[in-house]
Amino acid sequence: AKMNGGDQCFVYDPKMYQRVAHRVMMEGDVRTALLEHQFSLALQPQIEANTNRFIGFEALLRWKHPERGMISPDDFIPVLENSEQMIELGYWVVRRCFELVRNFIQLGYSDIKVAINLSANQFLDPNLSPFLTNLLQAYELDAKHFELELTEQTLVEDIDKAIAVMVTLREYGFSFAIDDFGTGYSSLAYLKRMPVDIIKIDKSFVFGMLENNADYQIIMSTIAMVKSLDLKVVAEGVETGAQMRSLEENGCDYFQGYYFAKPVPEDEIIEYIQEQFRH
Ligand code: C2E
Ligand code: CA
Ligand code: CA
Ligand code: CA
Repeated sequence: AKMNGGDQCFVYDPKMYQRVAHRVMMEGDVRTALLEHQFSLALQPQIEANTNRFIGFEALLRWKHPERGMISPDDFIPVLENSEQMIELGYWVVRRCFELVRNFIQLGYSDIKVAINLSANQFLDPNLSPFLTNLLQAYELDAKHFELELTEQTLVEDIDKAIAVMVTLREYGFSFAIDDFGTGYSSLAYLKRMPVDIIKIDKSFVFGMLENNADYQIIMSTIAMVKSLDLKVVAEGVETGAQMRSLEENGCDYFQGYYFAKPVPEDEIIEYIQEQFRH
C-alpha cells in the first residue's frame, strides 16, 4: 500500500482487478441472460400466524447460467449493484410479478399478495414510480397485491427521497416492507418517519433465537416496538415449529421459512396455490 499524502490509499490488489473483470463479465452476461430467458422467479410462501393460512409470496430471483448452472442472487446481485443491468433486471422482476398476479386472478385466486425486492438503485431510479403506475394500468391490477421490500441500506442512502417515493407509491395503494430489519442502521426515529406497513425480521436472528439469548431478545424487542408503532411483523427464516410457536406467542403476524415452504419454482406455483385452496 502506498500513501499519497492525503487520506487516500492506493493499493495494488490483484483481487480487486479480478473483481472488476468479474463484474464486467457479469454485466455482459446479464444482458445475454435477459434476452435468452435465463432468469426466473422462485416464490416463497408467507403464512399468517393466527390462521396458519397462506397469504402470498416473496418473489426471489433465480439465474440459470448456461455454463455455471444455478447462481444464487446473493452471488450476483451484490456484483451488479449500482449497474444499469441491475436496474433493468429489477424491472424484469417487477413485470414478471405483475404477470403472475394477473394469472392468479384469471385462475380465480384474487387475494394473493406478492412481495418484490427492490435494490437501492432501482428504488431511487426516477423511472420507478411511472413504471409501476403504468403497469397497474396495463395489467389492470390493484396495487394492494404488491408489497415493495426495501432494505435499511436503501433508506439511509437518501432518506428524504426514499420517503417522497414511498408517499407517492402509497397513494396508488402499494405497501412497503423493510427487509433484513436489525442488520442495518435504522433506528426508531427513522421508523417513525417512514410510511411503512411491515417489518421483516432478518433470518440471521431467527436461526439461533432459541439457543442464543441475545438474538431472542432482539427479536422480541423488535416485535414489541413494531407493534407499538402499529405495523405488522414478518419473521423470515423460520425453520422449526418451536421457532414458529415462540414467535407467534410474542405477537409475530406472518411467517416465512423452510418450516412452511422453500421458495417454489415458477412452473410449480399454480400447483402450490391449488393445493393451498383445496379444502
Ligand atoms: P432476502 O430478501 O432476505 O430473501 C430471503 C432469503 O432467505 C432468500 O434467499 C430465501 O430463499 C432465504 N430463506 C427463506 N427462508 C429460509 C429458511 O427457512 N432457511 C434458510 N436457510 N433460508 C431461507 P435467496 O432466494 O437466496 O435470496 C437472497 C437475497 O437475494 C435476498 O435476501 C435478496 O436480498 C436478494 N434478492 C433476491 N431476489 C431479488 C430481486 O428480485 N431483487 C433484488 N434487488 N434482490 C433480490
Ligand atoms: Ca398459528
Ligand atoms: Ca426480501
Ligand atoms: Ca433477509
